[in-house]
Amino acid sequence: MTTRRIELVEVGPRDGLQNEPTVVGTAAKVAYVEALVAAGLRRIEATSFVHPGRVPQMADADELMRAVPRRDGVRYSGLVVNRRGFDRALGAGVDEVNVVVVATETFSQRNQGMTVDEGVRTFAEISRLAHQAGLGVTVTIGAAFGCPFEGEVATEQVVGLVHRCVDGGADEVVLADTIGVGVPADVHRLVSAVRDEHDVPLRFHFHNTRNTGYANAWTAVELGAVALDASSGGIGGCPFAPAATGNIATEDLAWMLSRSKVETGVALDGLLSASSHIEGELGRPVPALLGRAGPFPPAG
Ligand code: ZN
Repeated sequence: MTTRRIELVEVGPRDGLQNEPTVVGTAAKVAYVEALVAAGLRRIEATSFVHPGRVPQMADADELMRAVPRRDGVRYSGLVVNRRGFDRALGAGVDEVNVVVVATETFSQRNQGMTVDEGVRTFAEISRLAHQAGLGVTVTIGAAFGCPFEGEVATEQVVGLVHRCVDGGADEVVLADTIGVGVPADVHRLVSAVRDEHDVPLRFHFHNTRNTGYANAWTAVELGAVALDASSGGIGGCPFAPAATGNIATEDLAWMLSRSKVETGVALDGLLSASSHIEGELGRPVPALLGRAGPFPPAG
């Protein structure tokens, strides 16, 4: 059997924290990022360059990006939803940008105050400027598996957006289950529909709102995804989607992948330390289970 490998993209500092009412200080966020890097994570979505009035937790985006540890091979991404955010991200020194385009009109208006078409045009503009600046460009298709306001999202809508964003220069496409309603059959459906037209690298973003996040992640691995988003501790949620809960947890995902002989390059003990760090900051237990149950087989 050939060894498989998948990249884990840590989104705890961004998606994980953005829904937290208690604002975590910049120094504590930097210490959290240090712990994530020490655990072997090499691609970290450090923050989001959105209006501080909309997401107060991300008000320190510029300062945080200047303070994160710079190590060989570690890439920091900033999430952006518009041109102003991109200009800030570029100025703050991100290594790559992740631009969100939402799949439905209602959620696109609530999340970023623009129509879906405007989202695609904004993406193409940012993509061109980012490439000129030598940055990698990811597009995240939000609500690709279902919308909190409009319900079912048609496969053709998602594939159409992927098509337009690949035309617009996306180096990588993330299909995001923002509200945790997807099941493995949906992952199959979307991957096969996208693959009929494109071989763009596919990455997935799952929330575990209805306990299907890990089954979805495994399905994505089997279908050739290049990367998976996860947040350490399984913290997170979207401030603009009612009842959205945390991402799949990096440590639980990494344990499953490691036992399945899929390489990720991360160390479980390091992930558990990062998770306890953020648990201490938030002052309540995180949803992840590996820290409670312990890895198997037990160490030593
Ligand atoms: Zn998310």
